[in-house]
Amino acid sequence: APLINIKDISFEYEQTKALENISLKVEKGDFLAILGPNGSGKSTLLKIMLGLIKPTKGTIELFGEDSKNFKNREWVGYVSQKSNSFNSGFPATVEEIVAGGLAKKTGLFHRLPKNYKEEVHHALVAVGMESFTGRSVSELSGGQQQRIFIARALVAKPKVLILDEPTVGIDHQNVQSFYNMLASLNRDKGITLVLVTHDVDTVTDKITHVACLNQTIHFHGFKDQLHTMSD
Ligand code: ADP
Ligand code: ADP
Repeated sequence: APLINIKDISFEYEQTKALENISLKVEKGDFLAILGPNGSGKSTLLKIMLGLIKPTKGTIELFGEDSKNFKNREWVGYVSQKSNSFNSGFPATVEEIVAGGLAKKTGLFHRLPKNYKEEVHHALVAVGMESFTGRSVSELSGGQQQRIFIARALVAKPKVLILDEPTVGIDHQNVQSFYNMLASLNRDKGITLVLVTHDVDTVTDKITHVACLNQTIHFHGFKDQLHTMSD
């Protein structure tokens, strides 16, 4: 079964039609970019994939199971747009932040597995940040912080990693190397990625699939792949 199978969904807020008749599959190993102007429904589509909101019409299956019945949310990793503006007010280290992705709630407490340092190290290697283990996250650049939050999601070994405009806080000259890192996660480590972005020019040679949301094309006739670029 596809990792994510969205079948002819629509979503309306009280006043606004945010999505209309969208169908979309994400298969293992895909690197999907969701493009579209502001207000075209990108965030709404991500919220539906994350199970945060239910479509007004249509169904979504996660790993072959109707999302209505889907319990294991840990299978989907998510890095929000604002994660890199994180400021805890205390000097959390890179290791502490990434280890947070491994913490299992056991009653009132959060418990880390015995081998957490090793797991954290692997995740940091994957994002090219292993030499920053003991550093305070607040001292890092926007791009470095974004990599730390990706490591935090990866350490939980999600089946798919969803990123909402991950380059928003990143200096222009570091955007290319950030996408190179994502491409290597996808190509070399087989991580399935779903990304909302405006960086069309930078992502075209990295992604395997593209979905364009805009006022005129609401995925009408969208099948497994849509190799159409707009804007
Ligand atoms: P994008 O992420 O592409 O900018 P959104 O999914 O945020 O698009 O929004 C799609 C449409 O739905 C827009 O017209 C937006 O104003 C509207 N919308 C988004 N969130 C809400 C909400 N919570 N309540 C009402 N309307 C919303
Ligand atoms: P993004 O840039 O990711 O699309 P926004 O900054 O547009 O996010 O929206 C931030 C939050 O505000 C989201 O949770 C979205 O659902 C909500 N929102 C967006 N548009 C509206 C709207 N017209 N009415 C109410 N809430 C909205």
